[in-house]
Amino acid sequence: MRLSSFYAPTLKEDPADAEVVSHKLLLRAGMIRKLTAGVYTYLPLGLRALNNVANVVRQEMNRAGALEVLMPAVQPGDLWKESGRWNVYGKELLRFIDRHDRESCLGPTHEEVVTDLVRHEIRSYRQLPLNLYQIQTKFRDEIRPRFGLMRGREFIMKDAYSFDKDEAGADTSYFAMYDAYARIFSRLGLKFRAVEADSGPIGGSFSHEFMVLADTGEDTIVACSACEYGANLEKAEAVCRMAEEATFCPPAEVVPTPGVHTVDEVAAFLGVPADRIVKTLLYEADGKVVAALVRGDRDVNEIKLKNVLGATEMELAAPETVTRVTGAPVGFAGPVGLAVDVVYADKELFGRSDWIVGANAADAHLRHVDLARDAKVECYLDLRQVAAGDMCPKCGQPLLFTKGIEVGHVFKLGTKYSKSMGAVYLDEAGKERHIIMGSYGIGVSRVVAACLEQNNDEHGIVFPPPMAPFEVALLNLSPKDETAAAKARELHDLLVGMGVEVLLDDRDERPGVKFKDADLMGFPMQLVLGGKGLARGVVETKDRRTGEKGELPLESFSQAFAAFRQGVLDGWENRG
Ligand code: ATP
Ligand code: MG
Repeated sequence: MRLSSFYAPTLKEDPADAEVVSHKLLLRAGMIRKLTAGVYTYLPLGLRALNNVANVVRQEMNRAGALEVLMPAVQPGDLWKESGRWNVYGKELLRFIDRHDRESCLGPTHEEVVTDLVRHEIRSYRQLPLNLYQIQTKFRDEIRPRFGLMRGREFIMKDAYSFDKDEAGADTSYFAMYDAYARIFSRLGLKFRAVEADSGPIGGSFSHEFMVLADTGEDTIVACSACEYGANLEKAEAVCRMAEEATFCPPAEVVPTPGVHTVDEVAAFLGVPADRIVKTLLYEADGKVVAALVRGDRDVNEIKLKNVLGATEMELAAPETVTRVTGAPVGFAGPVGLAVDVVYADKELFGRSDWIVGANAADAHLRHVDLARDAKVECYLDLRQVAAGDMCPKCGQPLLFTKGIEVGHVFKLGTKYSKSMGAVYLDEAGKERHIIMGSYGIGVSRVVAACLEQNNDEHGIVFPPPMAPFEVALLNLSPKDETAAAKARELHDLLVGMGVEVLLDDRDERPGVKFKDADLMGFPMQLVLGGKGLARGVVETKDRRTGEKGELPLESFSQAFAAFRQGVLDGWENRG
């Protein structure tokens, strides 16, 4: 391929609206262009990188026994009503009405469509297990599309769905996908970690997320400094230090706290540490008002609370609701005499007493509160967000926090969709049973962005070889010189003959421009053909990752190049 007739419109300056490095580099290296918010065109280089990811994904899915299909992007609303998700899925689901007044949507995911397919095809246990996957365009009307390919509205996903006759089979299918994901992200040269993820309110199911480690990640990963434990912050647990001994608690009494609202303000005003205070948060969940209690120095983990409640909708209570159930302005809620449907407390509060709580009255708190004696707590559970300084729930060693980008998600669904949509099979005894399902996603386009977050330097992209749009940038510094041009074409054809993807920069541009663009595009190897080198019978080399330069004799070019290439690949393999 020749750059003079290729289309890679590079930019010298960082685009104004790009915040993260992958977005900047994808635009600058001429890989993508924006059409509208969260919707991008892949230009030739971007598409090549995307296809490289898709091919690795495809190979590993096939190797794991999954079968490729291609499902429609437009889906009938009726299927989503059957599964119960039509009204539950938020505004990310782009709903529309067709000319026959039929409600439809653009697929954000395909559980409904694939379950509909399978329920019409599968009759017997003999047809199971089955795993169907596709690589396809998804649409999610994200509230804040941003960071380029990282969070688009339209994006490319690989989604697979497994169907099994029993739990053991479903677990085997799940871990086959888990292993395939680990192979995919390793092959693509990414630094990643698989962590436990929230699996929603359905008990018994489990899920893992595959996170590419990067400071710009939107997810927080909690990982043990000593053992294998790792979880998304949404799901992470920590050792709960129980109360040593019950303490004597005098009768509760009101203390005036004029103009004092936050935990820190109360702690400072009363001269006590924040961990002596109980924070009371009020939520509205599926029409009920719920109070969640955590220690003053902790935060409620809303996902954990939502799962405990089994709620589909949950949000912080509106100020009117707070006033109604507490009889006080916002900021003074407490568990004593609270008119809510139910009170849940974090287990850290269990067994201790003598707390300071909101008094459900303006400008007042209560002290000497014993929750068992003075309040009605339904039960004590893990409700809090894990924080710095917490210890691993598996081994007791310190937990560490890092940022990650979710590139893949494996999820054991159980019978959620097969029950709601009636996907059944006949077992060995001729008895009808629900199929047990799993679903497995990889954000193929997000993987490209995540990769660039990890692999770049001040000059541009540093593509890991498996993802690079081309392996080699061949720079002819004297394109007007017929001998040089002929030699460049010869090397180009030689490389192509060796099965190497090469982009020949044969443009009539200054060497500086060529060097800059080659670094920006970030192919793993650069070959530079200059007048002096040519006279000496050599072509210069550069390893884009290390910046290391060398020379290859034109005489025995093929062997010399093969050795150079192996060195670059080994360097990637063994990098720290
Ligand atoms: P997120 O939490 O980042 O919104 P999600 O958990 O909603 O993602 P899944 O439903 O698990 O996403 O989808 C499978 C994969 O699709 C994700 O692991 C991610 O890699 C990718 N993905 C999800 N949303 C987007 C998006 N808006 N843009 C690009 N990729 C996405
Ligand atoms: Mg996910």
